[in-house]
Amino acid sequence: MASTESPAASGWLGELRDELDDLDRQSLRRTVLTPRDGQGETLSIDGRELLNLTSNNYLGLAADSRVVEAAAEAARAYGASVSASRLLCGSTPLHEELEGRLAALKGQEAALLYSSGYLANLGVLTALARPGDVIFSDALNHASIIDGCRLSGAGTQVYRHCDAGHLAELLAATPARRRLIVSETVFSMDGDVAPLPSLVELARAHDAVLVLDEAHATGVLGPNGEGALARLGLDPEGIVIVGTLSKALASAGGFVAADATVIDYLVNRSRPFIFNTALPPASVGAALAALDIVAAEPERRAHLDALATRLRDGLLAAGYPPSGSETAIVPLLLGSADAALALEQRLRDAGILSRAIRPPTVPEGTARIRFNLIATHTTDDVDRVLAAVPPPA
Ligand SMILES: *Cc1c(COP(=O)(O)O)cnc(C)c1O
Repeated sequence: MASTESPAASGWLGELRDELDDLDRQSLRRTVLTPRDGQGETLSIDGRELLNLTSNNYLGLAADSRVVEAAAEAARAYGASVSASRLLCGSTPLHEELEGRLAALKGQEAALLYSSGYLANLGVLTALARPGDVIFSDALNHASIIDGCRLSGAGTQVYRHCDAGHLAELLAATPARRRLIVSETVFSMDGDVAPLPSLVELARAHDAVLVLDEAHATGVLGPNGEGALARLGLDPEGIVIVGTLSKALASAGGFVAADATVIDYLVNRSRPFIFNTALPPASVGAALAALDIVAAEPERRAHLDALATRLRDGLLAAGYPPSGSETAIVPLLLGSADAALALEQRLRDAGILSRAIRPPTVPEGTARIRFNLIATHTTDDVDRVLAAVPPPA
């Protein structure tokens, strides 16, 4: 046993390697893909220009010169970093302005910025729920919601995806000190929309806190990009809304918009807010500029909607079953991770980047290609995608 291998290599590092090899064998290994240019409707990868159908840059604002310039201007005015949490000295007038704008967009009294949407979900769930409480969570909720539920120490009851009847049963059967219902409004991997009127009604009937994650709806849905509630004409009062700046708003960061008391409570009790350096000014400046464009250019939303309808209709016409998507997220369910990876490669050969989404991001047996459209795509781009998708197996 005169091995030159370090003890770690044959011990815990070896274990990690074995696990990675296992992932490989199951077609579940993940790697980082690095485009050489920015985030536009095409991406330069391995020396090729690929049509980008895999980003969350819904309105095409991430590379918009007005947004980029606003980011630069904010950095020039307030520095590259704020170097402290908001509660020390890491706040700027831009942070306050953005919170006011987000609260107004969401029809809420106040808003609070977090460093990411992920942290906003952790922050709100861990502050509002604790051991003895119960969180009722949609089966397909995002990992950040699942992690928030776990970290809160509250009990979690998972209801079937978008099944308000199941949620009602669980609410009736589960006593708790406080009850929270949490759901995405637009589901990130399916593009379908939660049964929002029923969720609102059940929350009222059971005196439960309703937390809605609008990551994929903010800026995209509603007459002014307010989100999914506005699209349905629902009153947001009393609802705790989570969102991100990292998708349609072309920046980075997350937020919670809610009643002023809730926001005040989060400032005092939400650890991912309290113990985290505030967003850099550039991110805040970019989001402010994106909000201006969201308000001024509704044609971006209309075009995005038309592109999504064209893609969904085209897939139906090609013989694929309806997906349930109502948004710019258009999934093509393939089942196995192998099949999803094979189609990813085939599309890539045709000059289209749309990445395979595999477990644990989606449930076992539902691996897929998820097409995410961008408002700066053309109808020709959609037709190119449709031409590259093979008929269903
Ligand atoms: C992307 C996403 C988040 C996380 O937002 P980040 O700002 O990227 O951390 C949270 N919830 C949902 C539903 C998402 O899709």
